[in-house]
Amino acid sequence: MQLRFATDLSAEEYVRREAWKEAKLDSCPIHPEGGCGFGKNGTYSRKYPEGTKIARWYCSIGHQTFSFLPDCLSARLPGALKEVENVIEKVEKSPSQEDAVERIRLDIFLPGALRWVRRRILPIRSALTMLIGLIPSMFSACDPTLSSFRCALCVTHVLPELRQHAGPFLHILPPPLGFGSRPGSKKIKNNPFQHKTGTDPPL
Ligand SMILES: [Zn+2]
Repeated sequence: MQLRFATDLSAEEYVRREAWKEAKLDSCPIHPEGGCGFGKNGTYSRKYPEGTKIARWYCSIGHQTFSFLPDCLSARLPGALKEVENVIEKVEKSPSQEDAVERIRLDIFLPGALRWVRRRILPIRSALTMLIGLIPSMFSACDPTLSSFRCALCVTHVLPELRQHAGPFLHILPPPLGFGSRPGSKKIKNNPFQHKTGTDPPL
């Protein structure tokens, strides 16, 4: 399962400082009492930004891997959360998704570009909608848009910031913000410890 690595480093700084070496997990999340053969299990690599590694641990009895995803990186998508935010911001400021993707993805045809953009927009809107209900004390006056959430938190980039505020709910929020299932996924998760960790997120 993915766990939050709380950090305010950018994705580039995370790689430059090899910050995965600073990640610490003192006890097994399933067996905090110990005795389960819990220990460090090296790292896995992500392609973007180049050189990215993610620290991970393994519980022998639970047969479970735990990976520490830093706040700057997307879950189950390549690259940084800020990149996702920049894409969605362009769409929010455009008259239509078609108009936006023609400026964002010049390298692929429109249908593919629309799918690429919607893989980012739909789960983020879904996560923002969930957060309005989950944390009404902070977000009840918000619309499920980045601009509205930025305004509420007074920040320039809100998605990495939301990892902090949404901490207890990350396992039910959809990626790339949360560590749960994608919207519309048929996968039923009775146990938050049972979802798999990918070696490298799909494009
Ligand atoms: Zn364990």
